[in-house]
Amino acid sequence: MKRSYINKVSKKTGERNQRWKVIVLERIETLVDMFGYIVCEYCGGYGNLTEDDFNQVWGHHIDWDRNNCVPENCMIAHNRCNTDIHDNNEHPQQFHGTKEG
Ligand SMILES: [Zn+2]
Repeated sequence: MKRSYINKVSKKTGERNQRWKVIVLERIETLVDMFGYIVCEYCGGYGNLTEDDFNQVWGHHIDWDRNNCVPENCMIAHNRCNTDIHDNNEHPQQFHGTKEG
């Protein structure tokens, strides 16, 4: 009982997470089209979606607003890079066109 209580998220949060997931997966698809593999838009390294993997990536909210779930606000970053972004108070942007861009 206690466990299910802890894991419970509000309907609103659940819907927001679901919407964000769709946007993240679309962004990943775009990157795979561009580079041939999942790339971290922060460090440029290889990424994957394997849970708890060192290279696991997910969507970072560019403007840091977790409620702003639109494609323009989504960049793909390693979980470890996401931590760096927040720790260093950085505001990186999406890749446009090339890896160097
Ligand atoms: Zn990275």
